[in-house]
Amino acid sequence: MVKICCIGAGYVGGPTMAVIALKCPSVEVVVVDISVSRIAAWNSEQLPIYEPGLDDVVKHCRGKNLFFSTDVEKHVAEADIIFVSVNTPTKTRGLGAGKAADLTYWESAARMIADVSKSDKIVVEKSTVPVKTAEAIEKILTHNSKGIKYQILSNPEFLAEGTAIKDLLNPDRVLIGGRETPEGKKAIEALASVYGQWVPKDRILATNLWSAELSKLAANAFLAQRISSVNAMSALCEATGADVSQVAHSVGTDSRIGPKFLNASVGFGGSCFQKDILNLVYICECNGLPEVANYWKQVIQINDYQKSRFVNRVVSSMFNTVSGKKIAVLGFAFKKDTGDTRETPAIDVCKGLLGDNARLSIYDPQVNEDQIRRDLTLKKFDWDHPTHLQPMSPTSLNQVSVVWDAYEATKDAHGICILTEWDEFKTLDYERIFENMQKPAFVFDGRNIVNTDKLREIGFIVYSIGKPLDP
Ligand code: NAD
Repeated sequence: MVKICCIGAGYVGGPTMAVIALKCPSVEVVVVDISVSRIAAWNSEQLPIYEPGLDDVVKHCRGKNLFFSTDVEKHVAEADIIFVSVNTPTKTRGLGAGKAADLTYWESAARMIADVSKSDKIVVEKSTVPVKTAEAIEKILTHNSKGIKYQILSNPEFLAEGTAIKDLLNPDRVLIGGRETPEGKKAIEALASVYGQWVPKDRILATNLWSAELSKLAANAFLAQRISSVNAMSALCEATGADVSQVAHSVGTDSRIGPKFLNASVGFGGSCFQKDILNLVYICECNGLPEVANYWKQVIQINDYQKSRFVNRVVSSMFNTVSGKKIAVLGFAFKKDTGDTRETPAIDVCKGLLGDNARLSIYDPQVNEDQIRRDLTLKKFDWDHPTHLQPMSPTSLNQVSVVWDAYEATKDAHGICILTEWDEFKTLDYERIFENMQKPAFVFDGRNIVNTDKLREIGFIVYSIGKPLDP
C-alpha cells in the first residue's frame, strides 16, 4: 500500500488529501500539522474550513484511508510520498521584507524530513514557492541524507477556495515538475499514477522543476491581472458613461480573450494573489529585471486604487462625510462560499470608512466576530516603505459591531456596502430593508450583484462598480 503524508492541514492540504483518499482507496493518506487545534477540528464534526462538498468527502474517507494527526515525525518517516503544503506568507522582516516569500515553514519541514527519514522519499512541493526553491530543498535534504535518496517534485495546486472540491475532482490540469533524470522521471510517473486514478492522462502535464514552480506564480499573476484590467476599465466606464458589464461581455466574447474572470469588483483578495505577485516582483528584481517587476507591481497598485476609489465613492456620495453614520457592511470574506478573510478587500474598505469615523455593522454568513476584529487590526504593506510594514493607523474598533443577520446590520443604517458576492445578498427583502433605513438610503454594490433598477425603484440611491451613476 502506497503511503502518502501531507505536512500542513490547511486550505490546500486538507481538501487535496481528502480527494486523493476518496479517489485512491488503496492509498493511505495521513495529513499532519503542528497545530493541535486544527487537527482536532479535522477529526471533529466541525471541520476547520468551510468549503462546499468537503464535509461529505472527509466523512466518507476519515478513519478508512484518511487520517489527521499531530504525530508529524512518525507519519513522515513511514510515508513513500510526502506532500509539503505549509504556508509560504510574505516575509515581514529582514531581506526582501514585504515582498519575498517566507520559507521558514518550508525549511523546517525539510529539515525534519531529513531528520526522521529512514527510507527513500518523494518530496512534493504543494505550497506555492519561488522558482528555484527545489534547489534549496534538495541541498537541505541531500546534505543531511544519511544515504537516503530524495526526489523533489513541484506539484503546485490550482484549486480556488469556494470551489476547491469541484476543482480537485475535475482539474483543468495537474502539473508535475521534476528533474530530467531517470530517477526524476520515475518520481513524476509515481505521482502521475496517483492523480491518474481520476484525472485524464492528457490533463497531467510533466515539466521541468523550474517551469512548474514558475507556472504557479505566473497563473496567479495572470488571473489577478485580468481582475485589475477590468477594474481599471471600470474607473474609465464611470468617467465616460460606459457600462463595465457590457464592455466585459463585448471583450470576453472574443475567443482569444474568453469570458471568465472579467467581473469588475471592489478588488481581489485571498491569501495568494497579492502574496504571489509580490513574490514574483521580488524574483524579477533579484534577477535584474526591474521593468518586468514594475509591470507586475501595477496589478497590485490598481487593486489598492480600486479599494480606495470605492471608499472615496461611498464618502463623497454621502455628502462628503460618513462621520457618525451607520454603514452596513454585507460580506467580509474575500469571496463567496468561503470563510477565509485573508487579504479580503473588506479589511481596507472597513478601515477606510472607520478612518472617516463611520459606525460599521458587519455581517458575513461564514465569518465570526473575533476574526473580523483581528483582521481590522492587521498591519498593511506599504510600497513607499517596502522594507518594513507600517503599523495600522489607529481605528476605534468600538465603532464596529458584528451581527449575524443582514436585516439587523442594515437597521437604521444610512448606507449599505456589499463587499462579498454571497448569493443570499441577491435575494434579500430590499423593500423591508429600505423601510428600516435612514433616508436617503444608499447601496454601494462592490460586487455588482444586486438588481440596480429594482433597488432604484424602491427608492435607494445605488452605486455599482463601473456602471452609470444614479440618474
Ligand atoms: P494554511 O495556512 O491554511 O495551512 C498551512 C498549514 O501548515 C497550517 O495549518 C500550519 O500549521 C501548517 N504548518 C506550518 N509549518 C508546519 C510544519 N513544520 N509541520 C507541520 N505543519 C506545519 O495555508 P494554505 O492556504 O493551505 O496554503 C498552503 C500553501 O498552498 C501556500 O503556499 C499557498 O500559497 C498555497 N496555495 C494556497 C491556495 C489557497 O487557495 N489557499 C491555493 C493554491 C496554493
